[in-house]
Amino acid sequence: MPVFLHDTMSREVRPLLLKPGRSTFGMYCCGPTVYGPAHIGNFRTFLLQDVLRRTLEVDGLTVKHVRNLTDVDDKTIRGAMAAKMTLTAFTRGWTDKFHADCAALGLLVPQVEPSAVAHIPQQVAMIKSLVDRGHAYVAKDGSVYFKVCSCADYGKLSRLDRTQSRTQATNSAGEANDADEYDRESAADFALWKSHKPEDGDNHWPSPWGEGRPGWHIECSAMSLQHLGATFDLHGGGVDLCFPHHENEIAQTECATGVKGFAAHWFHSAHLLVDGDKMSKSKGNLYTLDDLVAKGFTPMEVRYALISGHYRTSLNFTLHGVENARSALGKLERWTDRLLEVAGFTRAEFAAPAVQETQTAWGRFAPAWAILQEDLNIPGCLGQVFTVVGEQVEVTPAQARQDVVGLAKILHALGLTLFVVKAAVAIPPAVADLGARRWAAKQAKDFATADQLRKELTALGWAMLDRKDGYDLKPA
Ligand SMILES: [Zn+2]
Repeated sequence: MPVFLHDTMSREVRPLLLKPGRSTFGMYCCGPTVYGPAHIGNFRTFLLQDVLRRTLEVDGLTVKHVRNLTDVDDKTIRGAMAAKMTLTAFTRGWTDKFHADCAALGLLVPQVEPSAVAHIPQQVAMIKSLVDRGHAYVAKDGSVYFKVCSCADYGKLSRLDRTQSRTQATNSAGEANDADEYDRESAADFALWKSHKPEDGDNHWPSPWGEGRPGWHIECSAMSLQHLGATFDLHGGGVDLCFPHHENEIAQTECATGVKGFAAHWFHSAHLLVDGDKMSKSKGNLYTLDDLVAKGFTPMEVRYALISGHYRTSLNFTLHGVENARSALGKLERWTDRLLEVAGFTRAEFAAPAVQETQTAWGRFAPAWAILQEDLNIPGCLGQVFTVVGEQVEVTPAQARQDVVGLAKILHALGLTLFVVKAAVAIPPAVADLGARRWAAKQAKDFATADQLRKELTALGWAMLDRKDGYDLKPA
């Protein structure tokens, strides 16, 4: 039986199947903006996409997972300028941090992780195609805008009321769009290319319309076209991206290529609340993975807490919820140890992929797998797992081995690892490099350089503690 999932476009729960003649399932997910540490709301979305990919893989599909890096936009440019760093050095530091958090949370590495800066020519080519086909126009200052009224079915994903006047008044940072975008013909039109402005510093690239930088939405259209083609199987993101970002992606790609049916399936995950409230820095309820690790939780406990709600319902994250995740994992570990003993398996054999791949058995975990396949019902799946864990039924070694295989596959699909030994915090390569360079500058008595490098470390969220004969790097 295939995996079923709700599709935002059709508003229906539909099976995820390979298209005839294709051998891989193409999945594009909007990735992080690398200007600071990702928070748990970002990670909930990435974790749910990870569980979907793992579930499809356990089901036997070969998935090509593409997740981009937004490394040029208002926030990254502002952050780099404030830190007096190049955009490349600034975003590389935060990309390393993102990768370290992903690894700690057990996220599989996407097959392709394209960066917006590395795809400027592809974005320019797509904008040019939109201008040539009459879907975009060049303003007096050299900025290029998408002409929304040229796209007859614009708004089909979020089913916008076309009589309603909708504007794209906010940028990717959720802030008011530049006041000087007065050249737009219509308030609904959005920027594909932004002409160079002094506040962008050195961050500009050549184009047929002059120096500038891409608008935010075009990068996902250009990169999905490059790595998955004009049409692909599934597009994912947080529900907040549905409008305008995903509407704009559809319009850009379908108008530039002339091919309808950009993504066959749309996977949106609901918001994350913290203590019943919207997460924000000013309310003090914005958590990063480091914040929770500092409170004594393991990344695996955080993962469990973040995936335990249904993806179509808002998850109310609380510290109590992570404590519950800890006790659930502890209970599961104790039960699994007893099961392994009856089955004659070691913990290492349980963790080995061979246990999951070579056998088709599900044992008593067949209902847990069936419910996971129904619209990625993770809470339902975990409920079924704990129904089995609560059973006091004596099983034979042969039955226990079936249960071991079934449980190993369920845990692999959920990305939950049992019996994890706590690891030390990994220092990202860009941070290690800054630390080494600062230490060398200090030894050479070049205090100005040492000072600047310390500021760069601070901008990446790290502190350097000097000792007489060396130094330590710690998350600030
Ligand atoms: Zn995107």
